[in-house]
Amino acid sequence: MSVATPIRVALIGLGKIARDQHLPAMAADPRFELVAVVSRHAEQAGLPNFHTLDELLASGVAFDAVALCTPPQVRHGLARQALEAGKHVMLEKPPGATLSEVEDLRQVAQARGVTLQTTWHSRHAPAVAPAREWLSDKTITAARILWKEDVRVWHPGQDWIWEPGGLGVFDPGINALSIATAVLPRPFFLTSATLHVPENRQSPIAADLAFVDTAGVAISATFDFLQTGPQSWDIEVDTDGGLLRLSHGGSRLWIDGALVHEQPEAEYPGLYARFAELIAAGGSDVDVTPLRHVADAFLLGRRVAAPAFVE
Ligand code: NAP
Repeated sequence: MSVATPIRVALIGLGKIARDQHLPAMAADPRFELVAVVSRHAEQAGLPNFHTLDELLASGVAFDAVALCTPPQVRHGLARQALEAGKHVMLEKPPGATLSEVEDLRQVAQARGVTLQTTWHSRHAPAVAPAREWLSDKTITAARILWKEDVRVWHPGQDWIWEPGGLGVFDPGINALSIATAVLPRPFFLTSATLHVPENRQSPIAADLAFVDTAGVAISATFDFLQTGPQSWDIEVDTDGGLLRLSHGGSRLWIDGALVHEQPEAEYPGLYARFAELIAAGGSDVDVTPLRHVADAFLLGRRVAAPAFVE
């Protein structure tokens, strides 16, 4: 299918990730042109800006696709409206506040013949594909995920994270799960979870998770939002060929303590390249696996009260 390029994109939700990653990634990719912004408070100089998607659709500004960069709680309504208007849609992670929402979007995209992409940016970290390849012929005996960051540094003022649907510490933790589900060779399932929920908030500030894969291998995950000092975004896998360690959110690959792969980070250029390919092929990429694990943790997890969190 031939697709006119550049693909004209309207970005919705001009916040941190939109400014840090989406704007530069689009500016660097000749297949895309940012033609409008929808945000209630923020504006991008030199472009038509709108407060709502309704206003954009009524404006007559022509666009082909939407990059949806709002918090997850308002993702579904906006995505559905864009798909029904015949636009291709890129969803920031997590793809929705519920699994059912994403299934609805999948069906709408299919019915309308447009592209829907659930993005998992961490899967595009440079050492993820080499890690998957290295693990593919090893016997795995255990895996550990350690995802510990300081919410005050990385998510200042983001109250939505603490609301229902905001995921709390699973907002970064889901990135770890997106990598683990991409590099580990077998499906895995949650067996138990403890969720530490601040007494003044709705979402966990820390979580301890235990999974088992279909061969009985134990996989643990520790998520912590109160880590000061060194931050860790690490996955370790014990194998018959040695200890694999993916550090820095999937950027560096270590085998038995030796750094074997490191490349400059290019996650969002990778996401946009994939979006262009999907649109050109007339396909969609809808994968909810990481969100399903988070939903399982909320279903099965034991809640423990944690001290109030005040930013
Ligand atoms: P953010 O800085 O809070 O930006 C989100 C923007 O969405 C806001 O600036 C806001 O702009 C708009 N918005 C629309 N409806 C909203 C609502 N009901 N509540 C709050 N904001 C609303 O958040 P972010 O860090 O960019 O995260 C957005 C999404 O990207 C999240 O799903 C997050 O998981 C994902 N993400 C974030 C990062 C990161 O490092 N921060 C990395 C990867 C992915 P207006 O007020 O102008 O409408």
